[in-house]
Amino acid sequence: MKCRSCRGPAVIEVPRHHAAFCAEHFVAMVRGQVERAIRRYRMLERGDRVLVAVSGGKDSLALWDLLLGLGYDVSGLYLGLGIGDYSARSHDVVRRFADDRGAPLVEVDLARDHGYDVPTAGRVGSRSTCAVCGLSKRYVFNRAALDGGFDVVATGHNLDDEAATLLGNTLRWETASIARRSPALPAADGLVRKVKPLHRVSELETAAYAFLRGIEYVVEECPLVAGNTQLRYKEAMNAIERTSPGTKAQFFLGFLERGSALFAGEDRPVLGPCERCGQPTTGRFCAFCRARAQILGERLGSPRDPSDREVAEALADEVLPVELYDGDRPDEPAAVGSTGRRDRDAP
Ligand code: AMP
Ligand code: ZN
Ligand code: ZN
Repeated sequence: MKCRSCRGPAVIEVPRHHAAFCAEHFVAMVRGQVERAIRRYRMLERGDRVLVAVSGGKDSLALWDLLLGLGYDVSGLYLGLGIGDYSARSHDVVRRFADDRGAPLVEVDLARDHGYDVPTAGRVGSRSTCAVCGLSKRYVFNRAALDGGFDVVATGHNLDDEAATLLGNTLRWETASIARRSPALPAADGLVRKVKPLHRVSELETAAYAFLRGIEYVVEECPLVAGNTQLRYKEAMNAIERTSPGTKAQFFLGFLERGSALFAGEDRPVLGPCERCGQPTTGRFCAFCRARAQILGERLGSPRDPSDREVAEALADEVLPVELYDGDRPDEPAAVGSTGRRDRDAP
C-alpha cells in the first residue's frame, strides 16, 4: 500500500476514501477535513475565543490538538462527572494534555459546583443516567462558555456519533430533532454558538489521528454507558459499513447536503430566563434546574407557589435550551413544540 499523497509506504487505509496514507499525510488529511468543516459552516473566526469540551477520550483530545495546530485561541473545558475511577483517569489525562501544551483548562465539577454526581443522578432522578449526564454536560458547557467570555463551544462529536444519532432520530421520525441536526448551531440569547468540527471524521480516523500524534487518552468507554441505545445504533451502522464502505458518510453528510433543508421550516420557540439560574428556557425553570432539584430533593419556586404539583404542571410543556440545542440523546424525552432552527449556513 502506498500513500495517496506521496507514494511512500502507507500506515493506514481509509476504505471510504479508497485511499491509504503515510502518517504525515493521514494527519494532513484529517486536518483538511476539519478545516473544510470549519469553513463550510463558518464554525470559527480568527480571534474567536474557543472552548473545547474535553472528556479525556480520543475525539475531544484530537480536536483540541487540531484546533491548537490550526492556530485558534482555544481553551479546554473538563467537566467532572464523578464516575469513579473512570472520571479520575479522564481528568488526569486532560490535565496532562493541558500542561504539556501550556493550554488553558477550565475545570467544572458537578458534585462541587452543582451538588450531585452522575451515578447519584441516575439512581435518584427520574431520567436515565445517560439522559441526565447529557443534560448536565450541555448545560455546563454553555454556562462555562458564557461565564468565561468564550464565543463558541466545540465538542468532539465525530461522524459515527452524528450518523448514529441521525439514525436513531430517523427510526423514530423525530422530525424536530432531525431539523436540529447541524454541525454548527448559531448563538442565541443566552446560548453560545456550538460546533462539531470533527463531524466529517470517523471514529476510527480520530483514534488513528490520536495514536499517530502521540496523544494519551482514556481508551475505555464510560462504564455507565453499556447497552446504551446510541451504542447499538453505532454497531448497526458499522455492520452496514463493513460490507458497504462509505455508507455512514453518505448517510450523514448526504443528509447535511440534501436532506436537512427538507426538515427545516419550524420556528424557534420563545425563550425566557429560568427563574432559578437565568438560562433561557420556554418554561419557568430550565430542565437542568428541574433535574437538579429533583435529584437533591429541593423545591423549585418561591414560597408563594402553592405546590410542587402546580409547578410541575406549569412546566409540562417546557422545552429547555440545552435540549433545543442538542437534544441528541435517544433516551431523552423529545423536545416539545416547534423547535426547528435555521443555521447561518444551512445547506
Ligand atoms: P459524549 O456525550 O460522551 O459522546 O461526548 C460528546 C462530546 O462531549 C465529547 O466529544 C466532548 O467534546 C464532550 N464531553 C464529553 N464528556 C465530557 C466531560 N466530562 N468534560 C468535558 N467535555 C466532555
Ligand atoms: Zn504520504
Ligand atoms: Zn435553570
